[in-house]
Amino acid sequence: MMSRAVRLRRLLTASLTAGMFLFTASAGAAQSGITVTVQDNYQADYGVTIPFTRSPRTTDYTFSLYEGGSAAGTPAVSAKVEMTAAQEDVYLPLAYDITGPQSYTLKIEARPLADRIGTDMAAAREFPFTTKPTCGCAAGTAGAFYRGNGSAADPFYVGSQQQLAHVGAHNGGQFKQARDVDLAGNPWTSLSSDGIVYDGGGHRIKNLKTDGGVGDAGLWVLLSNSTVKNLAIVGGEVRGSIIGGLAGKASSSTVQGCYTDVSMVSNVDNVYGHAISGGLIGASYGTVVEDCYALGKQSVTTAPYANYQGGIIGYTQNDSAISRCYFAGILSAGNARYLGGTLGVQDRRFGFSGDRIGSCYWLVGTAYGIGTYMPPTGALGDPFNSGTQGLGAAQLASASSFSSWNFENVWRMDSGAGRPVLRVFDNPKDS
Ligand SMILES: [Zn+2]
Repeated sequence: MMSRAVRLRRLLTASLTAGMFLFTASAGAAQSGITVTVQDNYQADYGVTIPFTRSPRTTDYTFSLYEGGSAAGTPAVSAKVEMTAAQEDVYLPLAYDITGPQSYTLKIEARPLADRIGTDMAAAREFPFTTKPTCGCAAGTAGAFYRGNGSAADPFYVGSQQQLAHVGAHNGGQFKQARDVDLAGNPWTSLSSDGIVYDGGGHRIKNLKTDGGVGDAGLWVLLSNSTVKNLAIVGGEVRGSIIGGLAGKASSSTVQGCYTDVSMVSNVDNVYGHAISGGLIGASYGTVVEDCYALGKQSVTTAPYANYQGGIIGYTQNDSAISRCYFAGILSAGNARYLGGTLGVQDRRFGFSGDRIGSCYWLVGTAYGIGTYMPPTGALGDPFNSGTQGLGAAQLASASSFSSWNFENVWRMDSGAGRPVLRVFDNPKDS
């Protein structure tokens, strides 16, 4: 008796549409009832999750992802999927473009089980789809993120200038920079962020050119309640009244493992008559900077009433802290009294409970020193007395000069540069 062969049409639930695809960083929790075996040598630490309901007649599938609108040519990813569960998420690694939408076609092939060959017949279906923003913004939003959900486990990935600008649209989010971002040719509008974590991943932002006029400027104009780490700002020029290579102002934030090498030109604001610059941060309010360094030149457009310049931070209040940092650039404002190799002015009139500068150094060069503090009462003008120290070129090139620095994991001495550098920038991983 011959039974008529049945094509395995019931491959998929009706819910399997492009809108159901999830673009995720990992397969997540261990799954039962499914084994996905990806083709040789294909690797990506992010990909696509496809909710799938199998046919009751087979457990044997192949899932393939092709670039473009049809299943033509060689698939980018192909996986054998053995599935005994009735319903499960099929996770496929896929290194799609993280900076914008990209079109793919999913082809699912079903094969009959060995004992049903002749009874059932293989079948295939194709599902074209386009990657969508993962940050909740509408498709087409400039700079929307295409990888990550902004959590600590699955941060938004930043891979382009537009995406860097889009950081400002997601306060409270966590970010990871995927590669170097070059801002050359495009004036930068300083970001303002609150409650974020930005991990540069050992990557650089190049050619930052921003001008705050009589306002403030930096990569961020204002960084609040945030953490920035493992990020370098290299090349370009920052202009404004209160400026920093990283942030003009930083409040209740933490900066770790960063460096800057930018030109900074500060001018007098139209409110207080101040011009303030710092290699990392212009003005700090209760912010902590650790294991950072700055190069570059800081100058002023005019000789103002008061210009505060610091190699790392220009001005602090509210118990800011600076630990294990050095400056090997140039401060060139007119009044040397307010220039510090680490910090320009420590304002002790607001919430000051003790000196919180430790193991910081600067390359002795032009006429500046250890900065000034502003006592709760009395005149500006007394120098710091602890925590920061000038080094000559030979001392800067010797690890033994740096008290309590971690040269095993955080820093290494670069004999060519004649100064310490941060290890995180040695071999950053692009993605
Ligand atoms: Zn968004």
